[in-house]
Amino acid sequence: MLKQVHHDQNAALGVNPLYSGLVPEGGLPRFMLPQQPMAPDAAAALVRDGLILDGNSRLNLATYCTTWMEPQAKALISETLDRNLVDHDQYPQTAELEARCVNILDHLWNDPDRQSIGCSTGGSSEAAMLAGLAMKFRWRDQRRARGEATDRPNLVMSSAVHTCWPKFCRYWDVEPRYVPIHEPRFAVDAAEVIEHCDENTIGVVAILGSSATGTYDPVTEIAGGLDGLATHGGLDIPLHIDAAVGGFVTPFLEPDLVWDFRLRRVASINASGHKFGLTYPGVGWIIWQNPDFLPKDLVFDCGLLGGSVPTFTLNFSRSGAPVVAQYYNFLRLGFEGYRAVQQECRDVASFLGEGVAQIPGLEVITDGSDLPVVTFRVRADEDRMTVFDLSDRLRRYGWEVPAYHLAPALEHIAVIRMVVRNGFSRDVAEMLLDDLRTEAQTLLGGSALPARTAHATRSTVTH
Ligand SMILES: *Cc1c(COP(=O)(O)O)cnc(C)c1O
Repeated sequence: MLKQVHHDQNAALGVNPLYSGLVPEGGLPRFMLPQQPMAPDAAAALVRDGLILDGNSRLNLATYCTTWMEPQAKALISETLDRNLVDHDQYPQTAELEARCVNILDHLWNDPDRQSIGCSTGGSSEAAMLAGLAMKFRWRDQRRARGEATDRPNLVMSSAVHTCWPKFCRYWDVEPRYVPIHEPRFAVDAAEVIEHCDENTIGVVAILGSSATGTYDPVTEIAGGLDGLATHGGLDIPLHIDAAVGGFVTPFLEPDLVWDFRLRRVASINASGHKFGLTYPGVGWIIWQNPDFLPKDLVFDCGLLGGSVPTFTLNFSRSGAPVVAQYYNFLRLGFEGYRAVQQECRDVASFLGEGVAQIPGLEVITDGSDLPVVTFRVRADEDRMTVFDLSDRLRRYGWEVPAYHLAPALEHIAVIRMVVRNGFSRDVAEMLLDDLRTEAQTLLGGSALPARTAHATRSTVTH
């Protein structure tokens, strides 16, 4: 995140008086390096004191990111934090685990001929940059070979794509072409996606689970449309699947839904290991169905660390710990373990959705039947409250449930989104529903529990 530099040289770090004698006399600067070292316990205590103010991740329904792992995974992470993933020569076994993970995902995503190539990334955003660059370079190589102009590449995608895609387009000078999403599916229409394509389209991105509503784009129809375009020597446009979340959900819950490498049109898939891959941040994955989709001049061989390792990354050094933790999950949970965890999330999401549907004034938009995500709005004929009021009021209990406007074309609709992740139990969902019911009733002017009672109830469950 961008941070503004502070000019106040004299700003001091607040230090608890009980630490006197442990920290250097004369206090500590807030924005400058202290002159002298201090004891490790004192430094750790100061850092911890500050971090206490971070939110309680158990009550955070805004994020898709993993906020809990088993102690065994934590131990592995601290044992491997020092391994530099890029240094295959020094850490060949860490590299081997990365390779196993790529293979496991390729199999999970039903690659029929197992010719794929892929790697871990810092997250789906880096994966999106790599996938986008591969599409752009391939498109450019093909057009250059035919002597055609290469100055106006475009990428076709839903108006509901994650920020990483507009970011890719701006950073790498590609025109973003947004296809509007529609009610009641809150996804794109496949025919409209095809209409947006032309000879300058480097690729199409379909989302397996939009971040905003959890809805799947109609992947099979889009792939079919692109196959249609390609017949009779027409435009041969690759399809990328942004399965940041769904890549770790759909294979377990809907193994028969065809969205992956079973479709030969699908050139590449990304997923976030640190979302429903159940691993702490930062790990993502990108796999290309065939090395042909990855132009050679994007891959660098670096001999700096000994040996020679082909890499395609935006950064160089990165800890191997998240990859080790991802592999731990694969071993620990297996297919059935992942299925059980994701099924529980979906069940709790359905339960939440049913509960919300019964609250006067509210209307459920997505009920967890795609991703385990519930979104709802305030009924159009209800002007006594907004989702923003509700979101604010729920925050007083500690719940973080974001309210926002949907993507262009449906931006007049404001929703609240609740992401059900591992560990968000039915009990916790019931408490959230209670609080939501209370606050909706209050806003609608009905009788409700006074806020203090609600707080007292909550204080028994925030641990
Ligand atoms: C979260 C998300 C991303 C970005 O993923 P990071 O791993 O946070 O970089 C991209 N696309 C979708 C659909 C997402 O939900």
